Amino acid sequence: MQPALGARSISLLWYRQDLRLTDHAGLHEACACKPAALLPFYVLDDRQFKPRTFPQHASAEEGLHFVSGLPKLGPWRCRFLLQSVHMLQEQLRKRGSDLLVMRGPPEARIPDLVARLISDLAQGDAVPGWASAGQPGTDLPPSWHVTLHYHQEALPEPADVEDRVHAGIQAAVKQLALPGLTWEMRAHWGHTLYHPDDLPYTAMADTVQSGGGRHVESLSSTHQQAGTAHEVSRTSSMAPSAKSGLGTRREGGVDVVAARLAAFPATMTRFRKALRSQGETPVRPPKPPLQALPPYPSLSSIQNSGSDLPSVCAAFDEAGCGPALDHLSSFLGLDYRSLPGMAAKPGSADMDRHDPRSSFQLSAGEEAALGRLRSYLWGDGAGQQGCGGAAGDQREANTPTALSNYAVSRAQASGSDASTHLSAFLGLGCISPRTVWDEVLKVREHLLKEGADTAAADCMLMHLEIRDFYIFTALKEANTGLFAAGGFAAREFTNKAPKWKKDPKLFHRWATGTTGIPFVDACMRELRGSGWMSNRGRQNVASLLAKELNLDWRMGASLFECLLVDHDAAVNYCNWNYFAGTGSDPRDRRFKTISQGITYDSMACLISAWVPETSHLPLPLRHAPFARQELVSEVTQHLIAQGITACPYTQQQLEGDVQEPQQHSPTKKGERSQSDCSAQLQGQLPLLDYPAPVVDPAAQLGSLKGRAIARRKAS
Ligand SMILES: Cc1cc2nc3c(=O)[nH]c(=O)nc-3n(C[C@H](O)[C@H](O)[C@H](O)COP(=O)(O)OP(=O)(O)OC[C@H]3O[C@@H](n4cnc5c(N)ncnc54)[C@H](O)[C@@H]3O)c2cc1C
Repeated sequence: MQPALGARSISLLWYRQDLRLTDHAGLHEACACKPAALLPFYVLDDRQFKPRTFPQHASAEEGLHFVSGLPKLGPWRCRFLLQSVHMLQEQLRKRGSDLLVMRGPPEARIPDLVARLISDLAQGDAVPGWASAGQPGTDLPPSWHVTLHYHQEALPEPADVEDRVHAGIQAAVKQLALPGLTWEMRAHWGHTLYHPDDLPYTAMADTVQSGGGRHVESLSSTHQQAGTAHEVSRTSSMAPSAKSGLGTRREGGVDVVAARLAAFPATMTRFRKALRSQGETPVRPPKPPLQALPPYPSLSSIQNSGSDLPSVCAAFDEAGCGPALDHLSSFLGLDYRSLPGMAAKPGSADMDRHDPRSSFQLSAGEEAALGRLRSYLWGDGAGQQGCGGAAGDQREANTPTALSNYAVSRAQASGSDASTHLSAFLGLGCISPRTVWDEVLKVREHLLKEGADTAAADCMLMHLEIRDFYIFTALKEANTGLFAAGGFAAREFTNKAPKWKKDPKLFHRWATGTTGIPFVDACMRELRGSGWMSNRGRQNVASLLAKELNLDWRMGASLFECLLVDHDAAVNYCNWNYFAGTGSDPRDRRFKTISQGITYDSMACLISAWVPETSHLPLPLRHAPFARQELVSEVTQHLIAQGITACPYTQQQLEGDVQEPQQHSPTKKGERSQSDCSAQLQGQLPLLDYPAPVVDPAAQLGSLKGRAIARRKAS
């Protein structure tokens, strides 16, 4: 329902996975309408601490039974979330506003909030002068309008939460029976780079190999003739419609959104091709930051408990989910309650402490996100000064930035600057993908002006598109195969229905980083102990779980969901499907995990940090600590082929005389010869307090020929 002409308005802003002020469609629209007051709020939904339920969930089967005990929101992301909410509140307060923080199901808390706000307004409490401006003899202004702004989520939980909120408000407003009151919910979209209304549906339909193409083409043009609203709007008179993600939009009796999504390409290559098939698909420019905000209403009936955000431990306990945290601790052998920041209140310095071994060392919140983006792209110092592009212009020519090496370094298994680590911020919406895109484009222009190589910037832009591909794929497949054991790809790429095992012991070894493959174990232990794992690590551990151990990939995906600081359901479940062979990978990719460790953790830095059992060993043995001479010799050959021509260990170490971990610095090429290394390996191999491998290690080592080809390609 549209507000009556001259109606006074008040806006509410429901913060979800969009914890920012910059490039926030809902906030911008709310401010543009100049409401008498703006009430931003966040609802911490305790259901996040509960496990995910999968379709055809077989709780009797032990494997999935364990998985069902994992909280969706685990300790690392919970810490990052609470801190981000706290930082958002600080930023809003700096601008004269505030953030109301509530706990409970949004469908209960939001209608209650709206009802209380309206009551306060009617009594003239919430906005000074509001009630007295009413018609003579009444408590109310002639007409007034309440708008609830919110961002839609790709995979909202529960799927119909927005409908439930809508129904709840409708019931509450009806009960209040106030004349002259209208209200609406306005949905916005901001989680992806490309706005769904801007995607080239006709071109995408052409790339769909079978069926649906022409159907979508006609729908697409019908929709455009009807006029595409930039923001989806829902008013109190509209029937509830959204079931998940983009919901439904009916035109001429047809669900346009569903038909459009059906045309979404099955592979990344086809998606990117379609994006450029009719010229460049536009990325909408990010909205500038707002400095002044409408006044925050004073609510006599609601206490703002925002400054009293709980610690991670308290959040679990108050939700009645403390046992889930303890279960996780005992399963993974790590007491989460005693780790840094877990018992601390958001805002305390403890919340930003990280294990020094982890590649992820960033603070939470929007300011930290913008700072990270700028310093990664423009160089050290840019983040702190917050000067972005200008800092880049001022930096000395040829000063390397983290970005300059990104195209190569992002493949590495560790390093705090190997990749941007922006995923944690993007997942919670502390920064928008359009802001990242825009800043990378500025760098790209700068590089072009300097005649420098733009490969790294292009590589980063491509990865933002990969993220979009997975989010739109998740929207398309949310109710089909995204969470199913067989995934969603079988029909196009393979006829094989995978048969998964649900062996809890095997899963436990994978989850606790005790598979006996040091590279895999190091990755899993970094995840367990810090919430982070490199993209390279994620690919390898997923491949091992699904393709070698044949465990139900959803067991791995739900452990990731629980532990990853940057978890995003759409991105995680699509990536898992991809690497389990049930998603959008047209090839049956398998990772040789020992080879991968040699390539992407050549000096075993990650392995030494997280698998200290191996740190006293010579380099080849750190990659493959198995008492089989021929395999170790082969590993040595691989290291040499990788350019590690010297073996940084001593004869004494090899013989097991020196048991203490040693600091090894990478040795220069040619310092020691290949024959020296091989000779050292003739000694007796040290025994280890380390488990035997769960798979045949020989099968985890690729061929030397393959390595030579890969290196030639890479160079
Ligand atoms: C099994 C598996 C599970 C994953 N789960 C998640 C997840 O829950 N959340 C998540 O954000 N990413 C996930 N990824 C993707 C990828 O590993 C991370 O996005 C990336 O490692 C984040 O690091 P970064 O920000 O430094 O990436 P960068 O290399 O700096 O890339 C920049 C941005 O591009 C996007 N991006 C890069 N690679 C991918 C990718 N493969 N898929 C989608 N987006 C990508 C991310 O938003 C990232 O922040 C998963 C990958 C695998 C193989």
